[in-house]
Parts: sequence; C-alpha cells; structure tokens
Amino acid sequence: MQGSAGPVDLSAAARRAAELRQILDQASHEYYVLDAPTLSDAEYDALLRELRTLEAEHPELATPDSPTRRVGAEPSSQFAKVRHLEPMLSLDNAFDVDELRAWEDRNARISSEVRTAGYVAELKIDGAAVALRYENGVLVRAATRGNGVVGEDITRNIRTIGEIPSRLRPDAPIPDLLEIRGEVYMPFSGFAELNERRVAAGEPTFANPRNAAAGALRQLDPRITAERPLRFFGYAVQTDPTRPARLPAQTQDDVLALLAAWGIPVNPRFFIAHDLEAVAAYTTEVERFRGELDYAIDGVVVKVRPLHLWPELGIVGGRDPRWAIAYKFAPDLATTRLLSIEINVGRTGALNPYAVLEPVEIGGATVRLATLHNFDDIARKDLRIGDTVLVKRAGEVIPQVVAPLTEQRTGAERPFPVPEVCPVCGTPVERPADEVMMYCPNGSCPSRIYWGIVHFASRGAMDIRGLGERTIQQLLERGLVRDVADLYQLRVDDLLGLDGFAELSAKNLVDAIAASTAQPLSRLLFALGIRHVGAHAAKILAERFERMDALLAASEADFAAVHGIGATTAAALAAYLGEPRNRELIARLAAAGLTLVEPVQRAESRPLDGLTFVVTGTLPTLSRKEATDFIERHGGRVTGSVTRQTDYLVVGESPGSKLDKARELGIPVLDEAGLFALAQTRAATDT
Ligand code: NAD
Repeated sequence: MQGSAGPVDLSAAARRAAELRQILDQASHEYYVLDAPTLSDAEYDALLRELRTLEAEHPELATPDSPTRRVGAEPSSQFAKVRHLEPMLSLDNAFDVDELRAWEDRNARISSEVRTAGYVAELKIDGAAVALRYENGVLVRAATRGNGVVGEDITRNIRTIGEIPSRLRPDAPIPDLLEIRGEVYMPFSGFAELNERRVAAGEPTFANPRNAAAGALRQLDPRITAERPLRFFGYAVQTDPTRPARLPAQTQDDVLALLAAWGIPVNPRFFIAHDLEAVAAYTTEVERFRGELDYAIDGVVVKVRPLHLWPELGIVGGRDPRWAIAYKFAPDLATTRLLSIEINVGRTGALNPYAVLEPVEIGGATVRLATLHNFDDIARKDLRIGDTVLVKRAGEVIPQVVAPLTEQRTGAERPFPVPEVCPVCGTPVERPADEVMMYCPNGSCPSRIYWGIVHFASRGAMDIRGLGERTIQQLLERGLVRDVADLYQLRVDDLLGLDGFAELSAKNLVDAIAASTAQPLSRLLFALGIRHVGAHAAKILAERFERMDALLAASEADFAAVHGIGATTAAALAAYLGEPRNRELIARLAAAGLTLVEPVQRAESRPLDGLTFVVTGTLPTLSRKEATDFIERHGGRVTGSVTRQTDYLVVGESPGSKLDKARELGIPVLDEAGLFALAQTRAATDT
C-alpha cells in the first residue's frame, strides 16, 4: 500500500506547495507593498507553517525563493533603494510554551549555556520595522526592512516623527556608523483620532493601526506622513560589519540601556528572565495587561540575554536568528458586522449604548457584544448599523468597537439616532452640562431598579449570596419586590414559586438576606448606588460619621470637609439624602434590622510596624496617596523604589518595571486585597 501511495502523495504535495507559495506571495504583496492585507495574520502564519512542514517532509520541493526562506517583500520602485549594513531578519514563531521549550532544546544542542544564560523578553510591537542609519551620531538615512537585504528610502518620512532624534545624545560612546532598528507604530488613541478626522473629511478609514503606520511611512509626500500620529520604539543596534566597533553592551538589556542613553525611545516594559519558565510566566502576565496598552502587540519577542552567544547560535535558512523567537498571541483584533446598537439603562440612570455584533472569534472567545462608551463616541466614529467594524478584545478589558471600515459600506448602513427618551420607561433623558453621559432621571424606571438591586446584592456591596440576576428579574416581574427594602420582607413561601427554587434553596436565600443586615454602614452606603459614592468614598464616610443618623443630620459642607471626599461626591450624597423618598427607604431598611453602624478600628493598632512597602500601578479602590496613608496609619513605611530592604511590593494594574525588580529580588508581591488582609491578620495575631 505504502509503496504505491508515495509518488501520488508527492505530486499532491508538490501541487499544494506551489499553491501555498502562490497564496503566500500574493498575501505578502498585499501586506508589505499595498499595506492592505486580505488574509489575517493568523491565517497567513498557518499557511506558512503548512508550507514549512511540507518542505521539511519533502526537501526536494523546497525552492530557493520560497516564502519560508524570504523576509518581507521586494522594495517598491517608487522609492530609492537602501542596502542595510547587515540583513534585517524575520523571527521564528512559537505558539505555546512547549514550542518555546523546543526552541531552547534546539539551542542547547549548539550551546548548553543558553539554559542558564537568561533571556530578555520584549513586547512584540505590531508596527513596521525600520533601520535608522546614524553617521557620527547624525541621522542620515532611514529605510524600511524591504526584502531584508535592501529596503526603501523613507528618510524624509522618518524625519517627521518628532521622538526620533536627528542627533544622538552623547551620553554613551557612539560608533561612527551604526543602524538603529526598531518599530514604527501608531498608538490606538492616535489611530482612533485619525479615523475620526478622516470620517469628518469624508475619507475612508484605516483598517488597523499596523496598516495605518506602514502606509504612513510609505507616503511619497512627507507632509502626509507628518499628519499621522507615528511613534517609535528602538530595540536593536547594528554596527558596520567591515569595521567592527565594540559596543559598550554585553547583554540585550545593555543594548536597550544604550539606546535610551542615546535618546532613542525604548519600551520600558521589558523583562529580564532567569530561565524559560520565568519567560512563560511573563507571557501570561503580558496577555493580562495587553488590553491596557495604547499600542498593538502581537506577542513577546524572547531574546537570549548575553550577546556573545548570538554569533554562535547563528541564523536558520538565512531568515530567522536562533537567538530570538516570537511568542505569538492569538490576535486581539477582528472585523465583523455591527448588527444593532442597544442601550442599557444602569442603576444611576446612565444610558450605556452597546454594540450587538455578528458573533466573531477573537483570541479564543466568541464576541457578540462590545461597549460603545457614549453617544458622542458613536457620532465621532460615525458608526452606522450594518457597518463592518474593527473590534478589539484583549486581556480582561471589555471588547470595544475601534472603528467602522467605511470603505466596505454598501449604502444600506443606517446612522444611529441619539435617544431623546429613556428606552425603558420613556422619560425624557437629561444630559448634565459637563458630562458626556445621558441619564434617565426617573428613580422608578424599571431598568434602574433592576440594576440597583443587582448592585445592592453584589459581592462588594451587601454580598447576598444566591440573589442572582435571574432571581431579581423574577422577583420584580411578580411584584414580590419593588425596591431593596422589600428584599428583607421575603419569606420562604414567596420564593418557592420562582424558577429554580426548592425548599432548601429558598431557605438559604432568606438566610443570606437576613445575614446581610449585619453588614457595616460602609457596605450599605456603597450598596445604595448613590452617584459618585464608590466603595472607597463609602468607607471614608462611614468611618468618619460612624452612624447613619449622623450622616442624615450632616450637610453638604460637612461631607465636603471630610478628607478624601470631593465636591462632586459631597453634592451627590447631600442630594440623595435630601430626597424624602430615599430617607423613607433608609427608614424601612432600619426597621428591617440593618445595623447602619460602622465598627471603628482601634487607632493604636500598628500591625505593619517595621515593614517597608513600595506601591506601584493603579490599585482598584485606593489612590497611591490613600494606599500610602493606609500603610502609614497601620505603622508601615512607604518608599519609592524596590530594594533588598523592601518587605512587600503592592501592585495594581499596569505595574511597570518595579514588579520586574521585585521578582528579580524575590520580594513578595501583594495586591490591594492582600494588603488589607496582611494588616488584618497581623492585627489579629498582635492581640
Ligand atoms: P514577525 O512579525 O513574525 O517578526 C519579526 C518582526 O517583529 C521584526 O521584523 C520586527 O519588525 C518585529 N518586532 C516587533 N517588536 C520587536 C522587538 N521587540 N524585537 C525584535 N523584533 C520586533 O515576522 P515578519 O517577517 O516581520 O512578518 C511576518 C508577520 O507578518 C507575521 O506575523 C505574518 O502574520 C504577517 N504577515 C501577514 C500577511 C497577511 O496577509 N496578513 C502577509 C505577510 C506577513
């Protein structure tokens, strides 16, 4: 059987290889030369892998000009050609941690040192690679990567990017001739604004920031480039191979420091890893914060840390260096159709528009809905129902509609009218002068009541376990509950008629509601859903006033006088407590047995005595200043930088290099909840 299958298979393989080359060549042309790809990167990568596997299984099928051996595409004849000092290479890809390990194993066969030499992991910026040639510290020429050996002369365009220095700072020795390599990219914010301007001018929008950046670089008129918000990150230095100059750098992180010393923008988020496991952990962390970055990344570039190993490891197939690999993420951008725009009326009455999308896979999840922020945003982006739109979903950030692709319009798309009345209760909406949000002012709006109860029962508020959205909906529909105070009147019998309830679950819910009466005043204040009174403000107010009675007797000025309470919060709270309906609600809650008191902490307790903390990143509820106050109030000390003397690093979102430093020094890391828990457990063991 096998004998006869061989030749047949080979001709099928040859046909498939030829077909793949043709598709990949076409795609490369569209991607690199036209800046208008028709395949997604993931599709392109998958086809390239298929071709690579075919060529590995049937070496006789490999051709010298196969896309598996080439970098980029031929430079366009519209630009003068520039020969790079040394070829600008591509990177091999790893799609999971096992592939990273296989890469290390292959390298270890060449040099066993790689396993212990360490790695530098950098964000893989999804922009366009460029080489900047500096002679005696002065920028003389800039080029695209082109086919790797020869690129296009884009010097005049590069000069429009303000942050690229025309003269290097002499803060470190500068070789006579060098090429600085890096990525030109367009931040999401600039990309969104650029598209908004194009919409206003009746011009077609750009499909994604990478195409917009690559397209802007390859303009024949630099005035057009100048209008595009381009930025740059440098990550490599190439000296003249015929006149080797010694760079004051032993490692890739030294190279980054050298670039920074010369005044080249360097991405501050790089990570020095002792081994591959640390790299793997870092990639997970990057996937988490990816959504908060203002620029697109498509992975992490992992580089062997010491430079002396690079020549020894060498280059594969004239295309990919062995000393680096691109750990690729699933794409976080996709295009789909905007089917409709719906509005959710939240507990504060805010009208939140959201997009209903044709379901689309992004980064391993199916996205059906995306946030649209507010009505101004919809108008600025000129989103129309029926549009093909660019959607972004990254990390834990809610999916967002970035832009419509106006070139794909058929004429059947419909603009979305700004609502004049609440879509749920029909009350005319209000828009406070200094806000972008619109509000339904009707406190009895069913949607506001529903979301108000959902919030009241939620974890950070009264924490009523078992009172989920579906149950709340049924309670409202059956008239068993009209507001949060009614919850405390519910009996087991009332619940038995609801879907999903039996004797035991009904009793559990009644018990959970009863248990919530013991929640401190701060929880209740937050749970009431007063505009501008978040969990943190509620805590400050409850600690200061201690009893609901005291709050009810206080004035707006009394609230504003509390340290940490701003004028807006004070006014909103005073307005809420001044409303007779709300005072009546509070009276009913009191009658139902709620505590309405804040237990006061013992002021003399100093559980964090002798400990030194550093705070970094954005914490969920405390500002940096408040976190410092909290630590100091409990006896701890706060310093600005992580050293061996630091006992704990407290981290929030987007922590930056302090987290890397703490990891390097093995210093324990806490989040905000961890900080509270630490203070509490040490207080408990103190006594
Ligand atoms: P690559 O993008 O996988 O990796 C190499 C590039 O990474 C470098 O040239 C550099 O520009 C960039 N990079 C970003 N940050 C870096 C950092 N910190 N350090 C080093 N390099 C960094 O390889 P490639 O050869 O540039 O192009 C292949 C990519 O282009 C693939 O992702 C492929 O999907 C895409 N592509 C897509 C199509 C399409 O039709 N969609 C066609 C051709 C290529």
